[in-house]
Amino acid sequence: PASAEQLPLGNAFGTLPPAFFTRLQPTPMPSPYLVGASASAAASIGLDPGDFQRQDTVEAFAGNRILPGSEPLAAVYSGHQFGVWAGQLGDGRAILLGDVPARAPSPTGRTELQLKGAGLTPYSRMGDGRAVLRSSIREFLCSEAMHALGIPTSRALCVVGSDMLVMRETPETAAVATRMAPSFVRFGSFEHWFYNERQDELRLLADHVIERFYPELRASDNPVEALLREVTRRTAELMAQWQAVGFMHGVMNTDNMSILGLTIDYGPFGFMEAFDARHICNHSDHQGRYAYHMQPKIGQWNCFALGQALLPLIGDVDTTQAALANYGEVYQERFDALLHAKLGLASVEEDDGKLIDALFALLQANHPDYTLFFRRLGELRLDDPGADEPLRDMFIDRPAFDAWAGQYRERLRREASEDGSRRARMHAVNPKYVLRNYLAQVAIEKAQDKDFSEVARLLSVLEKPFDEQPENEHYANLPPDWASSLEVSCSS
Ligand code: AMP
Ligand code: MG
Ligand code: MG
Repeated sequence: PASAEQLPLGNAFGTLPPAFFTRLQPTPMPSPYLVGASASAAASIGLDPGDFQRQDTVEAFAGNRILPGSEPLAAVYSGHQFGVWAGQLGDGRAILLGDVPARAPSPTGRTELQLKGAGLTPYSRMGDGRAVLRSSIREFLCSEAMHALGIPTSRALCVVGSDMLVMRETPETAAVATRMAPSFVRFGSFEHWFYNERQDELRLLADHVIERFYPELRASDNPVEALLREVTRRTAELMAQWQAVGFMHGVMNTDNMSILGLTIDYGPFGFMEAFDARHICNHSDHQGRYAYHMQPKIGQWNCFALGQALLPLIGDVDTTQAALANYGEVYQERFDALLHAKLGLASVEEDDGKLIDALFALLQANHPDYTLFFRRLGELRLDDPGADEPLRDMFIDRPAFDAWAGQYRERLRREASEDGSRRARMHAVNPKYVLRNYLAQVAIEKAQDKDFSEVARLLSVLEKPFDEQPENEHYANLPPDWASSLEVSCSS
């Protein structure tokens, strides 16, 4: 494995014309120290995890030292924020260092390295170009947790902190997170050129994305239509994965939607705890636009915004609409398949949709913890209702639970389901450990006192979300009472 110094940095995005970005240097941060690093993210780019022990490397990921070959830049984009056209946004505090060869997922691909919180850019608007330790730890942990859950996402390499203060509701210390993805191009990157009526740049960006990330679409009659169709499909699948695992993004603005169908831009996200389909994880989202139950529809709305932007390249409205038309079907198919797996069903029956709908109605009426519910459901024994007690105890309305569990048992019996193998299948898809807000909060508060051990330990727990980890059993616990007062907002 290479040291950071030896990473062969290129910058494919930087080959686009200058209108797409501004070259600039990160702003140094005083006396940076390592807060956390992901050995698995490092391995994915062939970086030696031991390298994080070197102060030189910490300086590089603080933005204090430019790695050989790096020509850093901040990209321009626009977007719809909370449904309203917001005009130009751009990397207000993200700086692209360049790209390096990827070992995974595709050995032929490249991974971009981006510093988040490394100082002002021409796109910072009213912001200070910085990120606080709190939100940097949250993004770091959640990126790696989502990756371990098998959900498409940007990754996080490390977090570097400093005693430098930045002002939010109260003064907080600054940090820089290094995130990684094959590309950070967003729906809003395309909207930017569409709304500025710059069709040449729109075309160049589409060509760049197709060439680098969707080469198989070049052979299509209408490659941009094919791109929209594929991004629509990936977005629908991503929404199904979010819903199934109970992930809420919190700020699904078009500038936070990846052209690769990845989860990006972790801010006021949350994992569903006491189930409520109307739950709003972002305290700043007063209308509940990005509530849990809204996410699939908003994903579709965002695809339409992308379609609007790509329309001049695709050619006509009908073709554009046709590329968007499969969203609902793709979403439903993937969601149904994921729920089948979560329920441990090995076959498909016509009425399974009813069983699933009845389950969500039951969850909505009783608000059990979403993650624990599915985990405990895996422990169900077909012929031993006594074994259901821990599961049944999660429901206020026991008769309602019994009625649904009765239907579920019948359904399992019809496919001659076997307890042991079903349990193994279910535990492989229903995580035991997710990044609950309170777990992140505990790690953050310790880190604010310069104890980074909990960031490392929580990361290691979340890297194996489906495993039984007897020594870490308590990380699966319900949130403590104090957690109900935790508020996560756009402030970061
Ligand atoms: P977000 O809601 O995090 O996706 O951010 C929306 C826009 O605001 C993006 O253009 C960000 O780069 C920018 N932004 C957010 N926070 C800051 C900050 N502290 N300094 C500069 N720009 C910021
Ligand atoms: Mg953003
Ligand atoms: Mg953000």
